[in-house]
Amino acid sequence: MVTRRIDTDVAIIGGGIVGASAALALRRLGRRVVLLERDLCGSRSSGVNYGGVRRQGRAPVQLPLSLRAHAIWARLPELIGVDGEYLRSGHFKIARSEADMASLERYRDLSRDFDLGIELISGERLRALCPWLGGKAVGGSLCPEDGQANPRLVSPAFARAAQRAGAEIFERTPVDAVEHDGGGFTLHSSTGRLELRAAQLINCAGAWAGGLAAQFGEPVPMRSGHPAMAVTSPLPHFMDWSLGVEGGGVYGRQVARGNLVLGGGQGVALDADRARSTHDTIVALTAQAIALLPALRHAQIIRTWSGTEGYLPDRQPVLGASLTTPGLLHGFGFAGAGFQIGPAAGEVLAELACTGASTTPIDAFSIGRFSAGSATAISDLSPAISSVKD
Ligand SMILES: Cc1cc2nc3c(=O)[nH]c(=O)nc-3n(C[C@H](O)[C@H](O)[C@H](O)COP(=O)(O)OP(=O)(O)OC[C@H]3O[C@@H](n4cnc5c(N)ncnc54)[C@H](O)[C@@H]3O)c2cc1C
Repeated sequence: MVTRRIDTDVAIIGGGIVGASAALALRRLGRRVVLLERDLCGSRSSGVNYGGVRRQGRAPVQLPLSLRAHAIWARLPELIGVDGEYLRSGHFKIARSEADMASLERYRDLSRDFDLGIELISGERLRALCPWLGGKAVGGSLCPEDGQANPRLVSPAFARAAQRAGAEIFERTPVDAVEHDGGGFTLHSSTGRLELRAAQLINCAGAWAGGLAAQFGEPVPMRSGHPAMAVTSPLPHFMDWSLGVEGGGVYGRQVARGNLVLGGGQGVALDADRARSTHDTIVALTAQAIALLPALRHAQIIRTWSGTEGYLPDRQPVLGASLTTPGLLHGFGFAGAGFQIGPAAGEVLAELACTGASTTPIDAFSIGRFSAGSATAISDLSPAISSVKD
């Protein structure tokens, strides 16, 4: 039974960092916006991720969006009212071999036009700067202005900021049906007893966005991934940088309270909504982490977790207008990059809704790349993604 009917300009499905950022940006552009989230805003990927806020290592095609996000992160307290423990601590990508070092050098050269300020460090300088690194590290690549933040604080804060700016946000309100006619969209939530009418609809449903895209004739080959995460007991502070490793496997950061947040490998899905790390993954992750950071051999793992995120085969998101349905916009599939670029993706979606164009290049993220007859056949794309490589 419907108890509430609402008319709005733009409806958003999904209250992760992308949907909430879009809601905030739309309010700043003066649009009426209603966001429906089936659980709590920021309760999925956006609130349980590692907290890496880095541009280093992003594919060049993603760097314009990543740079736009970098500028937004600099204004976080002004924009969402909290600092979210965001620190431009530096992101250091470790090389464990000369081949890895050469690969980091290639990335520095490739990304030079984007001014990331990447600096290669090895030998004596490496040992002097980070005596806490284990012997396996031969060098690395530092991006001094990349950093880290607390996703549990940042992502819900985007939703609260959107609400303060006038967005209507309904939590615990799953959208279970969407209809489209010449005039717009009607969204139904039987749990929320709500019927919502909107001229435009933004699909920000994260790993669950594929169903809506398929309903509108745009199926995507998205699969779910579940990065394994762990946190240690507090240790005396020794490291400011957020660490990644060339080739992947393990990543880590130390928060102000002393705990090390670690990630690496994949957990498992418990069902369509929930995931957890496995014992074997955590054992493997811990062994790799100790090899890189010997101080960890005295630490206890006090909590492990995982999340569910959507991966497209080419590891790029879908961001832009539907090619089948006027008024429908998609923003999903951000894989291991969505926490950092989410705020920029939200702004782009708001621009598209208001002006029909994005001021940041997004052609590479068109949903059209998966349509039948597109130049990028799905079979040409690289296979499964094994892990986030922060
Ligand atoms: C463990 C882990 C570590 C990661 N580490 C990093 C990192 O260090 N740095 C980085 O940049 N990125 C990282 N990522 C990726 C990043 O978290 C995601 O790309 C990003 O949060 C995606 O945001 P989103 O808003 O698209 O999706 P989500 O946060 O998943 O939000 C989608 C929302 O849609 C809602 N929804 C779905 N269906 C419906 C429906 N029918 N009705 C209403 N609501 C619905 C869901 O409940 C959910 O809240 C990591 C991800 C994970 C899981």
